[in-house]
Amino acid sequence: MDNIFDKERREEDRENLKIRPQSFSDYIGQKKIIENLKIFVEAAKKRGDSLDHCLIYGPPGLGKTTLAHIIANELGVSIKATSGPTIEKPGDLAAVLTNLSEGDVLFIDEIHRLHSSVEEILYPAMEDYKLDIIIGQGPAARTIKIDLPKFTLIGATTRAGLLTSPLRDRFGMIFRLEFYDEEDLKKIVLRGAKVLDVTIDAEAASIIASRCRGTPRIAHRILRRIRDFAEIMNNGIISKEIAEFGLNRLEIDSKGLDVNDRRFLLAIIDKYNGGPVGIDTLSATLSEEKDTLEDVIEPYLIYKGFIKKTPRGRVVTQLAYEHLNIPFKGYQMT
Ligand code: ADP
Repeated sequence: MDNIFDKERREEDRENLKIRPQSFSDYIGQKKIIENLKIFVEAAKKRGDSLDHCLIYGPPGLGKTTLAHIIANELGVSIKATSGPTIEKPGDLAAVLTNLSEGDVLFIDEIHRLHSSVEEILYPAMEDYKLDIIIGQGPAARTIKIDLPKFTLIGATTRAGLLTSPLRDRFGMIFRLEFYDEEDLKKIVLRGAKVLDVTIDAEAASIIASRCRGTPRIAHRILRRIRDFAEIMNNGIISKEIAEFGLNRLEIDSKGLDVNDRRFLLAIIDKYNGGPVGIDTLSATLSEEKDTLEDVIEPYLIYKGFIKKTPRGRVVTQLAYEHLNIPFKGYQMT
């Protein structure tokens, strides 16, 4: 089932195509990962070999899909993109794999959501570039082996811990994307403005960078919305005042928290005295899927030090109380 974030993501992905960086040199931030990848790609090209399989993980919107496309571009090969939930049966994956050419990249987004029967046929495909397919049922069933071209699997997931260990072990490289710092985000905003052909003040770019939850996708989304305000109110120029006005209208506060973040924090504060409270209980209280809370909302709140995960559940920190202007009375020790 789609949640509000999926819908939003699809709308943005359409508009985002032209903003998406195409090469390592366009990709801002995540320096260590990019430096290593450059070497691995270069070495694979030099050997005339396919690149080892890579797993990229991190919260949504940090650039996993973008990086997969860049790797394929830099390798000079084609990329076929699919996602865990779309591959329902082993036959669906077999069709995708047999359509690859030598050296191609197969990108599987949300790879943790692969069905176990599909995952099992991925193991020999990743290891030996062979496909074992069972045809027929019962005593008449037989296995056929098909040779596959050497390909590179790039898997993306929000949390590496969601993958089964046999699958995780088959990746030669595992990269964790981090939230971006404000300096990199400012560059991302300025680059986005250039691609969208809007004028923006350096100060306005810094403001957006400080309030986009450390996430390029959100930086771009805010930029597009503020461009709308600028077009109507300021001849299309994004000034500091317009940026601040727009962010307030979008209900994004000084630390970049949006309505959903505040709703999450306030639910723990108002209904559970600041916690600890379990994620299942919170999911029921907020009528929001547990995965959405864990993948989309919590990582940034933890990164900012607004919540903590304890063995007994989530706890809102004093820092969050201060930010929300709510008196902190300490935790209830029960
Ligand atoms: P994910 O797959 O992790 O959810 P995407 O790769 O779809 O994230 O990235 C979301 C948006 O953010 C894309 O429009 C992309 O252009 C932009 N983006 C991501 N990372 C970067 C980056 N390092 N530099 C510039 N833009 C980026």
